[in-house]
Amino acid sequence: MSSATPERISDLQARIAGYGQAAARMHHSGIATFFGADLTDDLATVDIGLVGLPTDAGLHQRPGARYGPRAIRDASRMLRYQNVSTGVIPFDLARVADVGDPDLELFGLEAIVAQIEERYRELRAAGVVPITAGGDHSITFPILRALGEGRPLALVHLDAHHDTAPPMRGSAVHHGAPVLNAVREGVVDASRSIQLGMRDPWAEVESLFHPEGLTSLSTDEVAALGPAAVAERIREVVGSGPVYVSFDVDVIDPTMAPGTGTPVPGGLAPLDVLTILRGLRGLDVVGADVVETSPPWDPAGMTALTAAQAMFDLLCLAAEAHAARSA
Ligand code: MN
Ligand code: MN
Repeated sequence: MSSATPERISDLQARIAGYGQAAARMHHSGIATFFGADLTDDLATVDIGLVGLPTDAGLHQRPGARYGPRAIRDASRMLRYQNVSTGVIPFDLARVADVGDPDLELFGLEAIVAQIEERYRELRAAGVVPITAGGDHSITFPILRALGEGRPLALVHLDAHHDTAPPMRGSAVHHGAPVLNAVREGVVDASRSIQLGMRDPWAEVESLFHPEGLTSLSTDEVAALGPAAVAERIREVVGSGPVYVSFDVDVIDPTMAPGTGTPVPGGLAPLDVLTILRGLRGLDVVGADVVETSPPWDPAGMTALTAAQAMFDLLCLAAEAHAARSA
């Protein structure tokens, strides 16, 4: 006997409508916000802020990541409000809103980085946990600077690349250096941090700059261990302190996520990386990002869709962490 009584259906529809003004609409209809959440400037009403950082000023090749937030917002409308694997509904655990994109400078990476840092200081001061869609990976350093000041964070870093590269054309800040910059600045604690999915053509150069104590798992090691054991390893490394998760979509194989600036063949499958993220429930996540989605290189839009799913899983982790801190 079906339980779909008219009352239960209308109760469910009313609850879904409460998750955001667009949440109950068809995905092609209305203004695209992240996951249909309401758009707001009023940080006092927000526990978790979904942010877009539309810049690719830190890229050295295949530009286009500045269009990432727009494509991820659009794709995210297909995912709706509930985690298909864990059943978590972040909107039931925290006040989640799309807090928009800061109006970033167009030219000059230094100015852009300063603007990002300022915005994330505001978010932190307002008690808002930011979940960000980039943008190229240079955005992560100013975010970590704002969130990690006075409390060095554990970093969980999914990427094909180490992102510990030396200055490029005189600039220490670029999309290949956020990890090195953050550790050097003291806003990430390398001994509580782990990067995984590594298969970096520049590994020999970057290994010269590898921060002491930072754990690194190659794609081969991740594949050999399997997602559950990798999640266990991450939990061992990061412990119980505040954690930031940075997800570079190029950790995924480029046949499945071609829309990115520096693709490297032989990557992980989306299900594997999502299973790893779902194995991190209970960590004290204080911020996360999904970076390097580049719509011009993403003809079928599947990179943006997978990036949106990763962002949703990060939102779920942050919502559970928020609920645990508030309990
Ligand atoms: Mn990266
Ligand atoms: Mn990368």
